Amino acid sequence: MSQPDTLRLAAADHRYLWHPFTQMQSWMAQEPLIIERAEGNYLIDTQGRRYLDGVASLWCNVHGHRKPALDRALMEQSAKVAHSTMLGLANVPAIELAERLIGLAPKSLARVFYSDSGAEAVEVALRMAAEYWHHRGQPQRTRFVTLTDSYHGDTLGAVSLGYNPLFHRPLRGLLFEALKLHSPHVLRFFQGMEAQAAEDEAIRLARQLFEREGERIAALIVEPLMQGAAGMWAHSARFLSELAALAREAGALIVADEVATGFGRTGAMFACDHAGLQPDLMCLGKGLTGGYLPMAATLASEQVFTAFLGRPEERRTFYYGHTYTGNPLAAAVALANLKVFDEERTVARVAPVAQHLGRGLSRFAAHRHVADIRQWGLMAGVELMEVPHLRQCFAPEAQVGARIAMAARRAGVIVRPLADVLVFMPALSIDTTQIDLLLNAVYDATIEIVG
Ligand SMILES: *Cc1c(COP(=O)(O)O)cnc(C)c1O
Repeated sequence: MSQPDTLRLAAADHRYLWHPFTQMQSWMAQEPLIIERAEGNYLIDTQGRRYLDGVASLWCNVHGHRKPALDRALMEQSAKVAHSTMLGLANVPAIELAERLIGLAPKSLARVFYSDSGAEAVEVALRMAAEYWHHRGQPQRTRFVTLTDSYHGDTLGAVSLGYNPLFHRPLRGLLFEALKLHSPHVLRFFQGMEAQAAEDEAIRLARQLFEREGERIAALIVEPLMQGAAGMWAHSARFLSELAALAREAGALIVADEVATGFGRTGAMFACDHAGLQPDLMCLGKGLTGGYLPMAATLASEQVFTAFLGRPEERRTFYYGHTYTGNPLAAAVALANLKVFDEERTVARVAPVAQHLGRGLSRFAAHRHVADIRQWGLMAGVELMEVPHLRQCFAPEAQVGARIAMAARRAGVIVRPLADVLVFMPALSIDTTQIDLLLNAVYDATIEIVG
């Protein structure tokens, strides 16, 4: 694309667009990077410059961009029908995909309810859990238990679960209050406990909460193994299992929000698999369509599902749905995505590449501003602080993480930190050479910005 075309688009972006999670005053003061094409793990801008996609286009790309099998599935389905409603009708790829997902998911899950984004998949799970207890004659079970700084999306229900005073204070009056539990990470990293002691203490606190609130709890909702948006806060499979056991003892449902961790990200198809967790509800999004189209799903157990069965006048129907739910184009691409998982043994390929990433990350450990390194599979974070041993952060206005990302971009790598946590979240199709490129660019950028 010519230089004048790029300038015209940049001006129109500044004039007409409002970008998500973006301070637009800062945005409008800089030239935007405009993506026009992509190839494999590279994004290409309107000037023809290539960038390694180090965040998998915000955590959703799986097999790389322009994957022939996925491109083909999209074209073939568009020659049949692009969209037809799931309200009162079924469609071919949505049925086939549901069957396939149930085959892959933990055995506890039996039904697939589609929506269009991760936040919606969480809204659906929330509403299913609350309505389930109503139908089961325990309407007092209305509370949700979440981990401190969990992130479940940006609709109001999801924000109630993940309330963060920095972002959400203006909304406070509109939200319901969740019951919060500290993850081991909070106790270890912010309160200075040893790893094992922090895990034991987190379990003890959880037991107290479940004993105290027991009969009022509708569900525990958790991002299994890695609280992504919190800043890549990892916990062990043991902690996840213990937490789930406490929820079970209290009679509550268990919701696994696998929107970020699902589809091979942690080295298993689902993070739940590492702990043998059998949730009652599971939220899927991001990687479901290989990073191609907006589609999400909430998987439910047969026990949850049957509570909604009855004659129409019994009012047990799940009154919920979106216009594009079960979209055939998205479902066809999701099916092709899962077929590639089979054919290329994608999940098995993650372990060696993740080990390579882990070895490369250890280089950061010696840096004087690196406070912590956390990783599960191809999902990792390096936390920077002004004075790590005092837990003293950089001043927010120093914009350390953001400036490192901009410096890495000049070296041809796209990353998006979470405040001052450097995030490594490439597509699963990344190879070891590209991992090295990613690590080198971010490491050099770190040296450039903080010395
Ligand atoms: C990204 C994310 C969501 C929200 O998904 P959207 O598609 O952005 O609405 C929910 N939960 C987790 C764990 C996520 O990482």
